Amino acid sequence: MTGAAGPVAIPPILQPHVAALRGAAHREPLGLYLHVPFCKDRCTYCSFVTTRDVQLQSAVVARLVAEIRVWGEALGRPAVDTLYLGGGTPSLLRAEELAALTAALREAFDLGPLVEATLEANPGTVDLAWLEGARALGWDRVSVGTQTLDDELLARLGRIHGAAQALDALELCRRAGFQRRSGDLMVGIPGQDLDRVLGDARTLVGTGLEHLSIYLLDLDKACPLKAEVEAGRLALPSEDEVADVFEALQVELPRLGLLPYEISNYGRPGAESRHNQRYWQLRPYLGLGVSAASQLGTWRWTETSVLPAWLEGRGETELTELDAAESLAEIPLLGLRMHAGVDWEGLRAEGRRRNLQPLVDSWDEQLRVFGAQGLVTFEGPRVRLTDRGRLLSNAVFQIFV
Ligand code: SF4
Repeated sequence: MTGAAGPVAIPPILQPHVAALRGAAHREPLGLYLHVPFCKDRCTYCSFVTTRDVQLQSAVVARLVAEIRVWGEALGRPAVDTLYLGGGTPSLLRAEELAALTAALREAFDLGPLVEATLEANPGTVDLAWLEGARALGWDRVSVGTQTLDDELLARLGRIHGAAQALDALELCRRAGFQRRSGDLMVGIPGQDLDRVLGDARTLVGTGLEHLSIYLLDLDKACPLKAEVEAGRLALPSEDEVADVFEALQVELPRLGLLPYEISNYGRPGAESRHNQRYWQLRPYLGLGVSAASQLGTWRWTETSVLPAWLEGRGETELTELDAAESLAEIPLLGLRMHAGVDWEGLRAEGRRRNLQPLVDSWDEQLRVFGAQGLVTFEGPRVRLTDRGRLLSNAVFQIFV
């Protein structure tokens, strides 16, 4: 493995806060996210930070290993209870690169409390030996980028695999010993209809996977698919059609045994993603790698999204420290995404403790209006979105922005 291309150190903007970050990192176990920024080809809708330049792969892995060590030492080898290897395409890592990253994680952090270690895999890049190797290293959950089981739509999305390969990948994961398998289902693809999505959902759940993430195709940023739509060569489904699909999935997936636990995520009981839940429950996490985001104490930061700058250690890290009102607003803003909702009485008490009672009162008033419209429901001390509220959640979330 080659050496990292630039010095590896805690970003200067974070250095004054290291002692406080270390304190926050020892209050409860962290989640750790690693970003692997490689893909074999670029999907037509993608806005993630990825590259096809595999020449950079060993330098990126070396730098990630170095970052793991630097952060582990700076934070005093804190406990970690969830790991997530995302991207990009982590399944493009060579077996020895995955082993090097895993070994560095074990040395630099206390993985004693680990309850979940997820890696993302693209169906076009997995084989049994690689998956067995990953499983032997301790990775115990795999998220397979299935998206849709329609070959024509997969080609439109620029995916490097067909539907049969996606189903084969799920089976290979099972044979490699991954009992915890998740798939993705994308909604809103030009040319996709309700029957197609429901059929895919049934087929995917029929493979025995325990978890499904439902994504709405997002064309906010410039990408080839957006250009096709803007040029009138492809048409997106209407908002009503998309809402119908989400509504139908809310009925069909529980019937298949996958229960909603977050706006976009369904799982068999006990199969919820522990790592992803920490984002909505405001539990701390450290993200390493280009464009990775972190949350520790009241600090939020994001690494540069410019790969050469990150590799050379000269990227800008964006840091935000939330004030009392902002961090209070995060609780309902993220917590309402969860099916279990938010402990509203607890939030009221926290508002009083922070002298922010008028703010909570104003949220309460607005939520009651949404309650009258059937979008939220107050149940005992908790408030949560209704099925209809989940379809119109952005309107509710505006209260807290
Ligand atoms: S596989 Fe994922 S990260 Fe890679 S180009 Fe496609 S959408 Fe983007």
